Formats: sequence, C-alpha cells, structure tokens
Amino acid sequence: MSHNLEPIHFSDSIQPHGILLVLSDPELTLLFMSANIQDYLGIAPHSLLGQSLNTLLDDQLVEAIRQSLGEIDSVTPIKLQECISVGEHSFDSLVHRTEGAIILELEPTSPQTELGFFSVRASVKRAMTKLRHVSRGSEFLQLVTQEVRKITGFDRVMVYQFDQHGAGTVMAEAKQDDLPTYLRLHYPATDIPEQVRALYARGLLRFIPDLTAQSIELVPASFGVKQPLDLSFAVLRGVDPCCVEYHQNMGVAAILVIALINNQKLWGLIACHHQTPKFVPYEIREACELLGQFVSSELANKVNHEELDYIVKLRSLQSEFVESISKVDNLKQALVNPAPRLLDLVSAQGAAVCLEDEITLVGITPTTQEIRALTQWVDKQLGDALFHTDSLPKLYPEALMFKDVASGLLLLQISKVRRYYILWFRPEFLQTVNWAGDPNASITVEADGSITLSPRQSFEKWQETVRLTSLPWKACELENALDLRSAIVGIVLNKADELARINQELERSNQELDSFAYAASHDLKEPLRGIHNYSMLLLRGYESVLDDVGKNRLQTLIRLTRRMESLIDVLLKFSRLGQAELHLVPTDINQLAHQVLEDLRVSHQNVQPDIRIPRPLPTVHCDPILINEVFMNLLSNAFKYNDKAEQWIEIGYLDASEQLSKGLSQPDAYSPVPFVFYVQDNGIGIRARHLETIFRLFKRLHEQRLYGGGTGAGLTIAKKIIERHGGRIWVESTVGVGSRFYFTF
Ligand code: ADP
Repeated sequence: MSHNLEPIHFSDSIQPHGILLVLSDPELTLLFMSANIQDYLGIAPHSLLGQSLNTLLDDQLVEAIRQSLGEIDSVTPIKLQECISVGEHSFDSLVHRTEGAIILELEPTSPQTELGFFSVRASVKRAMTKLRHVSRGSEFLQLVTQEVRKITGFDRVMVYQFDQHGAGTVMAEAKQDDLPTYLRLHYPATDIPEQVRALYARGLLRFIPDLTAQSIELVPASFGVKQPLDLSFAVLRGVDPCCVEYHQNMGVAAILVIALINNQKLWGLIACHHQTPKFVPYEIREACELLGQFVSSELANKVNHEELDYIVKLRSLQSEFVESISKVDNLKQALVNPAPRLLDLVSAQGAAVCLEDEITLVGITPTTQEIRALTQWVDKQLGDALFHTDSLPKLYPEALMFKDVASGLLLLQISKVRRYYILWFRPEFLQTVNWAGDPNASITVEADGSITLSPRQSFEKWQETVRLTSLPWKACELENALDLRSAIVGIVLNKADELARINQELERSNQELDSFAYAASHDLKEPLRGIHNYSMLLLRGYESVLDDVGKNRLQTLIRLTRRMESLIDVLLKFSRLGQAELHLVPTDINQLAHQVLEDLRVSHQNVQPDIRIPRPLPTVHCDPILINEVFMNLLSNAFKYNDKAEQWIEIGYLDASEQLSKGLSQPDAYSPVPFVFYVQDNGIGIRARHLETIFRLFKRLHEQRLYGGGTGAGLTIAKKIIERHGGRIWVESTVGVGSRFYFTF
C-alpha cells in the first residue's frame, strides 16, 4: 500500500533503479534528467542539458523513438522493442507522454529477464487456466495470491477489497510460513488516500523495489516557470516518505501493487510485500499487470457471484411471500406468519407491521411505544416510500436507547393515505474491526492547525468498534422492500375492487328486494282486504244463523286478517325505507324526543314512567321524520317492556371523549363519533343470546298478548333508518335490570 500526500504525482525526484529523461515533444531535446545518469553512464547531467537525444543514444534508437511518438499516450508507458545499449550497459526503455514532454525511462535489464521470459508467459497462462476453473469467490482470490506469489516470488501477496467507504479488508493472502497473517484485517480508508486510489484506478501497477533507497533528484532542480512535471505514470516515480515509513513499520522493503478494477471502479488491490529490497523485471511486472486485468474481468463472474446468489435467494423468497399474501384476507396475518419470512426478506433481525395504530412486532425490536414515536419522526423525514439508515442513533438520538436492536432501520410506507408501515431493524454491528492500526492515528493535526498524514508507529493489530452502526442495507434488499410494497398495494387494491363490486351487486339486489317487497306487499293487501270485508259481511249478515262457535271462528278470522294487514303494512313501510330519499336537515333532537314522549304519554295512559334527560340533547343533521320513528320505536319499547313498580326511562348522549373513557363495547373497530345517543330503561332486559336477533324482522321474544303486543318490526325499522344515516345501533342489557339502546347517525 502506498499513501502519499497530495500532490503525489508531481515530483522532482525518482527511485534510483533507473534513469529518467524528460524530452521536448517532438524535438526530443533533453530538458531534465535524473542525477544518477552520472552513476550509470559516467556522464555529468549538466553537460547533456539542452542537447539532442542523439548525443546520448545512437541515431537508430532515437529514430525508433521518433517513429513511435504517434502511438505514445499519457497513461501507459510503452516498452521499446529493443534493449538500449549505452556503453556497456543494457536497458529496458519505457516511454510515455506527459503534458508538453516525453518521458523516457531506462531500467537496466536484468540477466534473468531474458532467461525467464518464456517461463513467465507459461506461468501466467497456467495461472489463468487454473483461475478460470474455480467458481467460489474466496477460492478464486486465494488462488490469485498464490499464483502472483509464484510468479513474482514476493514474501507476501494479498488481495484487498475496498468497501463503499474506502476501507479495505484483506480477503486472501499467500505468504512465507513464518510471517504473521494479515488475513481479514481491515484497513481504514485513510490508509490509501483518495488521490492514490485515483492513480491506481488509472495506472494499474506500482512498483517500489527498494523503499530504503535514496531518491534521485532531477536536474535541473527547478522546473522553472512552468508547472511541475507530472510524473503520475512514470514507472520510476519517487516514493512519498510517509509510504516509506509506513511500510518500514511493517517490516517491508519492497512492494508491487496491482489494481483490480470492476465496473470502471477500483474494486481492490493485489499487494505484494517483500522484507528485503527486490527488483522485479519489466516482463514479470507486465505479466502481473496482465494477470491483474484478467482477475479484474473475472471479478463480476466469480466474486460478485456470491452477491448474485444472495439476490436470487431474496428474489425467490419475495415471490413466494407475495404469492402467499395474495391468497389471504388478513394482510397483517399474512405478513407476520410465519414470522421469519418477513425478516429474511431483507435480512433483518426484527420487524414491525404498523397498520394505523395497531403495531405487530416480529423478532427483536424496540418497544411498541418507541416504534410509535419513531414512525412519527420518520414520517417527517420521508421523501418517498422508503427510508433507510445504518446509523439511526446518529440521526435520531432517541434511538440510543435501543441501538442494540435497531441501529439500522429500513422503513417502508405502504400507504400515504392510511398510516401503514413496515419497519425492519438491525442491531448495532459493534463491528469488531481489526483495523491495521488506529484509523485516526494516521492523521495528525499540527500546532498551526494544518493537517498532515503521518505514518503508523506500529502495525499492531488492534480493534476499533464502530459504534451506533448496523450492517448496511444492500441495494437488493431495498429493492425487495419496494417490490413488497407494490405487491401489497396491488393486492389491497384488487381486494378493494372486489369489495366495491360486491357492494354494488348487493346494493342492486337490495334495491330489487325492496321493490319486490313493495310490489308483493302492495298486491297482497288487496286480496287480504277482500277476505276481511267478506268475513265482516258474513258475520253481520249471518249472525242469526251462526252458532257461537261459528261466530267465534269468524271473529278470529277477522282478527288474523287485521294482524296480517299490519304485518304487510310494516313490510311495505320497510321496503319503502330502502327506497326513499333522506331529507337531511339540522334537527333539534331534544325537541324531537320531547314530542315523541308527549305522544306516547297519551297512548300509554296506564303507564307513566319517570322520564330522565340528564342534559339537553344536541342538534344533529338527520331526516327528522325517520329519526322520529326511531325514537318512537325505542321509547315505546321502553314503555312496554317493563314490569317494575317504579319505572324510569333515561334519554341521553355521550360525546367523543366520554365514548373513549366509558370504553363503549361496540362490535368491531370503533372510533369515536361526535354523539352516541342512548335510550335506557329499568325494564325486563334481554338475554345475551337475543341481543342481535331482536333487530331481525318480525322477531319477537314474547307471545303476542304479552307486553302490549307488537309486530316485531320496530327495531328492524329503527336499525334500517340508522344505517341509512350511516350510523349503528346496538344494545347492552341485563335481564331483570334493564336495557340501554345506543345509536349513532
Ligand atoms: P315489537 O313490536 O315486538 O316491540 P321490536 O322490534 O320493537 O318489536 O322488538 C323486538 C323484540 O325485542 C321485542 O318483542 C322484545 O322482546 C324485545 N325488546 C325490544 N325492546 C326491549 C326493551 N326495551 N326491553 C326488553 N325487551 C325489548
């Protein structure tokens, strides 16, 4: 690893293992050169300045360089085919272009190069074949380190992978047996600063054969008025002192680093370390570079493969999940049963399904209260349907209380209109990260406030716990959550459509039924009238001929026709109720109730119960004629179904807060309405099993002659009227104590 200070690539010194010449473009006049030309060739650099390259190299070579100028770019130094001989020395020559100049680097050829050339090629080919045959990512990277080590002969070869924040992890390692392992060690992002990273992403290979070697100055020392020379791509580029000290602390004297690129981004590095200075000939470096490119191209295939497997697994889970949801009626149940499914969907440890105020917990989660407050907070942050963070406590300090279960949060909003959410939680990772040093120690703040990077004093493994952070949410997990949302929305919408259709049909058949009942009862009345009239005629005209039994039977017949007529009347009224339009007007219920009571007192003169109205009844929007009927039915029942000596009736209402505090035992979900009216009596009461049946048409609990009789339609009609007002009616009762009928509009 190299970690230099900015500006890294503008340098006025080079490594000593070669000669660097800076030539004018395209004249090839010598502008600068490394001072070690004296050591290698015994020529004083100053004597060459301003001279043509021909002074140094023979004309044929210069011509060869001139010929290749068209192909030279500013990124990859290209090696001239021939070795250059100057005096008794033989050099590999690398040439590339920098801004406004040509850089020619001469590296002494090592005798092994020629010898080893064919075996290097063979080793690389063999390595590639082997690498092609492994499928598992970890094995692949492991093999990479082994093969690179074989080819280069370094003491230690590692593959680093960078995470999204730039911190590195040693993924694979091949090393000399007696060295400590660095496998799985993590390096902070600061170890390889951004600029170095950018260079790797472009330059692919960096070689420093001797970190201890004295660097060589360029002559002349100053670049004059021109901007400093860009040596980014010079093979001999000088080494930053930080990098030297850093590696020396690790006991490393030579490094070779090969970049691994995936998706045009620096994915990681192959890093080779050697304990003593080590020169690697150009051919081998080139082979490594090639191998690096091969590894890069296989990364997507081999290493990202595991990620792909995970995505596939999530996908299949997802489709299974969606299918099972679409089959059930109860969304909540489908989401939370069986519990692990919801968690596996995004690899979370806990989840909460919030449907309005109802919160269902799965796995390891904060408390319901904490979740309620949390959703309120997220609600304000929410841009679109998804909110996620891997460090919730840093955004929402209250989460410090439950960081152990929810340092990571993924929240999915199912519906904007209704408060439907699914939340997933991940615990604090407490990543016991084995940073290869203190990530903060590499940054020193100087007395004057300036910040410099200083190398590690030690390369001891130490642990840094990354607090208040969970494992990050992966893109595929977020996608899964979003897909779940569309599935739920789709299913819910489908269900809503179906409901609407059923409702429509019901409404139609209700209307049909109403008109049928109306027609039927209307038509029934006529023949009934006939039976009644003829019976009357019979009774009157033949009274003298009929004996008592005959008269009695005729009278019963007449009574039955009367009763049947009143039943038909009820039926008629009932069916008309379904069809009639409501005429809603503000209606003073207080006045209305008093009027009804007045009428009842007249018709029930034998009973005079005590009437209690604790506070004046409010004015509401309703159809006064119909609501009058409701009060009439309820109050007349209260008058009738009472056999106590001291009878009383209470008429009152509960406002919204009273409804909550009294805990009204309404069936199903109940949310407060402005008023709930009630009519209470201290009468005979109703058995629990009849509390619902009494609202059915013609349902009576008593013989006809008891309690003043009735058709058993009063409550049915009252219920229908209330429902047409969008309200509800229900009753609480205790046998022998009394009943309380509640209703809302
Ligand atoms: P009815 O014409 O028989 O009064 P309703 O539909 O009004 O018909 O009532 C149905 C039945 O419910 C009654 O027959 C009676 O048994 C019972 N009922 C209604 N109101 C009361 C009450 N306040 N106390 C006791 N029983 C009642």
